Amino acid sequence: MDYRMLLIKYAEIGTKGKNRYVFEDILCKRMRARLRPFGKFEVRREYGRIFVEAFSEYDFDDVIHVLKQIFGIVGICPVYVVEQPTYENITAGLVQYVEKEYEDKHFTFKMHVRRNDKNFPISSMDMNARLGGELLDRYSEEGLSVDVHEPQELINVEIRNRAYIYSKVIPGPGGLPVGTNGKAISLLSGGIDSPVATYMIAKRGVEMEAVYFHAPPYTSERAKDKVKELGRIVAQYAGPIMLHIIPFTDCQLAIYDNCPHDQLTIIMKRFMFRMAQDLAEKNDCQCIVTGESIGQVSSQTTFSLGVINEVAKIPVFRPCIGMDKQEIIDLSEKIGTYETSVLPYEDCCTTFVAKHPVTKPTLEMIEKSEQKLKGIMEPLYEKAIADEEIVVLR
Ligand code: ATP
Ligand code: MG
Repeated sequence: MDYRMLLIKYAEIGTKGKNRYVFEDILCKRMRARLRPFGKFEVRREYGRIFVEAFSEYDFDDVIHVLKQIFGIVGICPVYVVEQPTYENITAGLVQYVEKEYEDKHFTFKMHVRRNDKNFPISSMDMNARLGGELLDRYSEEGLSVDVHEPQELINVEIRNRAYIYSKVIPGPGGLPVGTNGKAISLLSGGIDSPVATYMIAKRGVEMEAVYFHAPPYTSERAKDKVKELGRIVAQYAGPIMLHIIPFTDCQLAIYDNCPHDQLTIIMKRFMFRMAQDLAEKNDCQCIVTGESIGQVSSQTTFSLGVINEVAKIPVFRPCIGMDKQEIIDLSEKIGTYETSVLPYEDCCTTFVAKHPVTKPTLEMIEKSEQKLKGIMEPLYEKAIADEEIVVLR
């Protein structure tokens, strides 16, 4: 039995009042775009629900896999459709459905019939009792029983011009549909944290761009490819991500040659933030995202974060800030970035890292060091931005 229809459950966007239609429209649009390669589907809103109906053969697992990547979807229910909803046909459909879905019939259930078509001659209450009875007749010896208070399975039957039977909910990713909450630019490096941070902000409905600071020959072409690959994985959830690749070597060397080495990482990050902010302004992004997490490295002490943050005029979101490394790793495994993140390619931050970096920088101290870059950094900064390479990751 192939499921022709899927019922899509979405929780949070249901609570947005008038905006609800905007949210639903964006969600439907995202679903249509993602489903297109997998067959002929209609995605439609009906009675405050979203349905996917297939008009061609499709691979069930592929389609579920894709839907599980679309933010805004809380649950996916495969629906068995009864074309002519007579009592006999509904019963036959229900039995087929239970046969397919429950190899082991040892569970408790409750019927939940909704009759949207009031022309249907039997009331919902009576239908609950009768359909429940039909199942018990067939399967009680195999262990099936009714529990109206805490059933293990709630078997839904909705009767309209057709009848829909469903009980299974495949969990979706939750969150809000991308495109409902503005746009951010994420500082994307090849590590574990920043792809997770990018995913987390996209999950709140934010469209993402990304920037990667590339420092050849200190960072290789393969390091760049790794960042692209990570961006592509995140794009499966976030939608297409425009990646800005900034050639950062000259800026980095200028800092290296002119500033105290124990402050390099802090000063470098401040320039990354300045550039990210410029890119944000140019590309209509309202905020910056990083993978920083308190205490992970010397540049992520509260002192360092504060001094780095000082250059930003727009909000900087750090969704990993309070997470333990293991929690970030767990999430990266779940979203599929972990294996790529741990490939051993160098990062420009590690290439230039000092043996004993400052952990308690002050703004005064760092600004004083940056004074030494006056007249040197400006043209390099401009050139780096002008020479950006742009790729759209999808
Ligand atoms: P990640 O695992 O994300 O690489 P990290 O633990 O290695 O982070 P840092 O290297 O200190 O930490 O970087 C902190 C954050 O700064 C990163 O999460 C990322 O958002 C940003 N960042 C660092 N290096 C780069 C880079 N080369 N290009 C873009 N962003 C970067
Ligand atoms: Mg890193």
